[in-house]
Amino acid sequence: MIFPDIKAFKYHMREYAVLKKCMWKIKKTDPTRAYLKCKNKDCKWEVSARKLSTEHTIKVRTCNLKHTCPGLKKHKNPMCNSEFVKDYMLKKLGFSDEVPSAKRIHKEHIWPRFGVEIPKWLAAEAKTLILAKLHGTFEESYTKIPSLVKEVMNMDSENICSFTKSIDDAGANRF
Ligand SMILES: [Zn+2]
Repeated sequence: MIFPDIKAFKYHMREYAVLKKCMWKIKKTDPTRAYLKCKNKDCKWEVSARKLSTEHTIKVRTCNLKHTCPGLKKHKNPMCNSEFVKDYMLKKLGFSDEVPSAKRIHKEHIWPRFGVEIPKWLAAEAKTLILAKLHGTFEESYTKIPSLVKEVMNMDSENICSFTKSIDDAGANRF
């Protein structure tokens, strides 16, 4: 398998682990390679990938997907963290889709796809990360205001601008 970068490889392997109810840890990584092993140190499961010197893509080098450990028995997996839920949802959401509530993120997306239970706070945290990614964080938007005012003023010197801020239905800060 080929990936555009190490980040994409790690995301793919995390999605795999959440789906297969197992956990891995990183034994070694840098922007050109990653070596993952099952969290259970006696288990033989391992996957490694690295960048080929002649190409710009990341290629899987070694791959043993057979666990010699029992894996996770419960419907809970720490690999399914808020960062993962954010990335998964961003991949699924269409451009004009509304970001679902924390409850719906769990009930309609994570649970049906992965059979993994996530706590409400984690789904809420993931939603905050999704909104920050989609709309920019409040701080980022705020720093852009002075230049925006200047631009609008330049367009028409007769312009009178005023900005107000509020929180929209999706919970994002808006000006
Ligand atoms: Zn294992």
